[in-house]
Formats: sequence, C-alpha cells, structure tokens
Amino acid sequence: MAASSLLQLAPIGPLADRLLRDNLGAVRLWEEEADWLARHGAGVELLATSVRRGCDAAMMAALPQLRAISSWGVGYDTLDVEAAHARGIQVANTPDVLDDCVADLAWGLLIAAARRISASDRYVRAGEWRDLGGFPLTTKVSGKRLGILGLGRIGTAIARRGQGFDMQVRYNGRSPKDVPYGFEASLVALAEWSDFLVVACGGGPETRHLVSAEVLAALGPRGILVNIGRGSVVDQAALIAALEAGTLGGAGLDVLQGEPGAPTALCHRDNVVISPHVGSATIETREAMEQLVVDNLHAFLREGRVLTPILR
Ligand code: NAP
Repeated sequence: MAASSLLQLAPIGPLADRLLRDNLGAVRLWEEEADWLARHGAGVELLATSVRRGCDAAMMAALPQLRAISSWGVGYDTLDVEAAHARGIQVANTPDVLDDCVADLAWGLLIAAARRISASDRYVRAGEWRDLGGFPLTTKVSGKRLGILGLGRIGTAIARRGQGFDMQVRYNGRSPKDVPYGFEASLVALAEWSDFLVVACGGGPETRHLVSAEVLAALGPRGILVNIGRGSVVDQAALIAALEAGTLGGAGLDVLQGEPGAPTALCHRDNVVISPHVGSATIETREAMEQLVVDNLHAFLREGRVLTPILR
C-alpha cells in the first residue's frame, strides 16, 4: 500500500495510533498541512476515524477512491453511513467489545442514583454524618421493574444484569425480539410500568427526544431515568423541568445534550448522578476497541471485508 492510502482523521488512542502508523502507514491528517486533502485525497482508499471525529459526506466526496472506513466507537450518529453505502464503501465500528463496560456503568449509575451514593459521599466528606447524623432514606433497587429503551447489544447486557437483581425486565424498540423479556410497543406505557428506565439506543434524528416530557411524567416521581445511549435521546429541558417539579425521582446520566459539561440545573441536584461519557472508558475495553479499529482494516485488506460492518 502506498503511504497515503490510509488516512487517519483524528487521534484515536495510543495503541491504535501506533499500529495504524507503524503497520499500515497511516497519514495523520491533523499533523499535515491544511491543503493535504486537496493534494492527496484522490489517493486515499482507507480511512480511520472515531465516533467523536466522525466522517461526513463532504469528507467522503474529497476521497473518490475510498473503499472502507474503520471507526472507533459503536455510535454512528457522526458517520454518514448512507452516503458511504451509496458508494459501496464499507463502514466498520467497534461493537460487542464494550457491551460489558457500558452495561456495568449503567448499573453503577442506576444504583448510585437510587441509593444516592454520590450525595452520601459528599455528606460524609462535608462532616455532615458526624454533625447532623444519619443520611435520609433512599430507594430500593433489587426486585423492581427495569425498562430498557433499545434492546441491542448493550441493552441486552443491561437486561441480563437485571436478572441478577431479581428484576422484571421489559423493553421498547422499533420491533419485538425473540428474548425472554416483555416488549412494550409504547415508550409511555413502558415508562409507566418501570421503576427504572434505561436509555440504551443510539442518537440521530430517529431517536431525538424519544424520552419526552410525557415519558418522564409516566416514569413518575419515584421513577429513575438512566441514560448511557446518547444525550439527544432525552429532552433535556423536559428532564430538568421534571426534576425541578419533583415529578421525576432522579436520574443517572453518562451522556448529555451539549456535552462536554453539564447544566448547573442538573449539577446541583442530589438526586442526579452524572459521569463524563465514560461508558466504555476502562483500560481493557478501550484497548480492545482500538485493536478492533486496526483489525477491521487488516481484514479488509486481506479479505475485502471488515470484521464488524455497520449494516443499515
Ligand atoms: P445496537 O446493538 O445497534 O442497539 C441499538 C438499539 O437501539 C437496537 O436494539 C434498536 O432496537 C434500538 N433503536 C434504534 N432505533 C430506535 C428507535 N427509533 N426507537 C427505539 N429503539 C431504537 O447498539 P449498541 O452496541 O447496543 O449501542 C447502543 C448505543 O449506545 C450506541 O448507538 C451509542 O449511542 C451508545 N453507546 C454509549 C456509550 C457510552 O459511553 N455511554 C458507549 C457505547 C455506546 P430495534 O432494532 O428494536 O429498534
């Protein structure tokens, strides 16, 4: 392969960055002159990117020989998959290897929001345990009802963990699946039934604000929302309004609209737990994701097919 055949749009991580450069001769666009694309874009056949950086139709148009895109991350709301497929370009992401960690974090947030772990930690550190006495009672987790929006790979891993907590599990999505969990065709009905509603679907226009004011009202003053999918799936203004009015019990959020950062209206609430979009952010899982970015490109070069294509 000519050195310019593989273009990397942005840093991915230490392992992937090293392997892409050393083993596949990647050109790092961010280290090149501003006119690199105009001068060399016609020679690019492979592209490495990430869900953070994405790849839009305009970028693809600048790469007329492009044959495959390998993207780090499982979401593809920043990749124009339709434009790629229309040109016969294969697009790969890094699914499966992160399911356990994202599901673990969803449960961490669920328990932390219900049992107010962050708030009670602050209580102890501020000396209030000593000065004021016991912490207020919180909400039981085990044996409750778990609703999942988007029973995909991660949603299924979350559901499986629910069984360990003796929970009943139901889900909502575009269609029912052959699984041992009940399907609710209406998200409002699922929220009404649920004690905990976990968002595990991806972002993009199709899922924007699926968790609306009506859904949050159905979840109710004792219900807890957990979002590890995408910030755009939840109507954040409605979420803040529901928390302020006391019509929603609490929230555990790994993803937010307008991230990075979180609105003060969420930050100052003790019934809200926020993590900085770290669902997959463990040493083991990030390494596996980076390796898969590289493996997808090797497989394409060897067999003409990426290992984990995005199929739409
Ligand atoms: P997946 O296997 O493709 O599952 C996505 C699920 O979303 C599918 O089961 C699908 O269900 C559902 N869905 C899609 N469109 C929908 C709609 N309009 N209404 C309701 N449900 C819909 O993907 P995954 O690997 O589980 O990942 C899911 C998402 O998690 C990613 O897209 C990403 O946004 C997010 N994620 C977050 C982190 C983090 O760090 N917090 C890390 C990784 C991934 P149906 O087919 O039944 O519609």
